Amino acid sequence: MSLYNFLDENLFLPIGDLVNGSQVASELKRMRRNDFLSEERIDAIQNAKLQKLINHCYQTVPYYTRLFDQLGIKPEQIRSREDLKLLPVLTKQIIRDNYQDLFSTAVSTSRRHIASTGGSTGTPLTFCIDNAEWSAWKASTLRAWEWYGLHLGDKIFSLGGNSINQKKKIITLKGAYDRFIMRNHKFSSANVTDECMMEHYSNLMKIRPAAIRGYGSSLYILARFIERKQLPVCPVKAVLTTGEILVEEYRRKLEQVFHAPVYDAYGAGDGGILSHECPSHKGLHISEEECIIEITDPLGNPVPDGEVGNVCTTDLNNFVFPFIRYQVGDMAVMKKERCDCGRHTRLIHEVMGRAGRLVYNKKGTPISPLMLWIMMYPELNYHNPSHQAVYSKIDKFQIRQDKNGDIDILLKLNDANEPHEQFNYILTNYRNHFEGSQVNLQFVDNIPTLPSGKEDYCVSEYTHQQ
Ligand SMILES: [Zn+2]
Repeated sequence: MSLYNFLDENLFLPIGDLVNGSQVASELKRMRRNDFLSEERIDAIQNAKLQKLINHCYQTVPYYTRLFDQLGIKPEQIRSREDLKLLPVLTKQIIRDNYQDLFSTAVSTSRRHIASTGGSTGTPLTFCIDNAEWSAWKASTLRAWEWYGLHLGDKIFSLGGNSINQKKKIITLKGAYDRFIMRNHKFSSANVTDECMMEHYSNLMKIRPAAIRGYGSSLYILARFIERKQLPVCPVKAVLTTGEILVEEYRRKLEQVFHAPVYDAYGAGDGGILSHECPSHKGLHISEEECIIEITDPLGNPVPDGEVGNVCTTDLNNFVFPFIRYQVGDMAVMKKERCDCGRHTRLIHEVMGRAGRLVYNKKGTPISPLMLWIMMYPELNYHNPSHQAVYSKIDKFQIRQDKNGDIDILLKLNDANEPHEQFNYILTNYRNHFEGSQVNLQFVDNIPTLPSGKEDYCVSEYTHQQ
């Protein structure tokens, strides 16, 4: 451990929490202590947190007061994860229809931080978190990094920034926290040209991080670039992937080029899902003190362990805008099995739904999954109310690329009567990136699921590669 590691943990982190109003330091200590708890202890903590959340919801969240009363259910009846099936699932549509009624009246508006997610299936969502949630999120990530031999204060090189406009740098409190305490050096992964990759490579070699982090697809492009140019790489302890499905081929390439193990993570800001791959690579350990994940059929009935179903999450930390049995839109398999690493939390396997595969334009240039999103929501700044207004008009979208490389963009609006011209920017963005392809924008009433039954925002039959 270096002096920076020591100072970061004992000085910078506590000061950062004080200034920021967060509790990452204490949360991290708790999570470290509880890393190897027995199943019984985990269940007991989970049940206690669940009961507190359910009471809070019934008493202070109008949507849940109404729901419980309509169903004739008393909060005391929900005592454990098994009892949750008494409640219906919470869908994105229900959230949109009841948005204001989902805020707790007991939490002042000053404690609300509007957040948003791209979602995995082309359905964006605006929701709300507070500092407690944010702290648990950071602490859970830090604890997982420690599993990989990383320590707070180690430098991380991240390809995950999602703004096209890198020049517009506004230093926020949380941004400074990220940079100087988490030591996360973030770079945009939106553009994936060779020039951008060269710049990323130079930054990587300058920073000499302990770990590389980002979307699997973005890191894969960087790895391929490094391999093609036969560039030397600095040693790293781990490659951390997040944000989309990690394709096996990408994992192999990352391990081969960066000479380090790859650890995947699956999280969702909406619903508070936190799960990280452990060094035994047996699956992703769910942070079960923070969230309850059920795998269900579309109606919310739990499916047996080991079977594919919808990911349904109850966030045990969000008391501002509670998520109970929230259908994230991903599908996954969950198993309760002993892991060699000694942790007793349930494991998620085979998350399906977050398209992580690259698509290519006719020149053979890869377009990252993130870029497909950014072209749809150009600034990706949901915190700006005027952007939210435009984005919230889009219910769902799907990009379909045929064998010839031509593109159909299916757009389902919340209100079919919205003037279509305001969405022409989407067409322009896609035509710019898919040069030589025919690009059409179609307004549709429904976006069909794939033959496999899952939803996906990008389907491509085009196989042109570099
Ligand atoms: Zn494990």
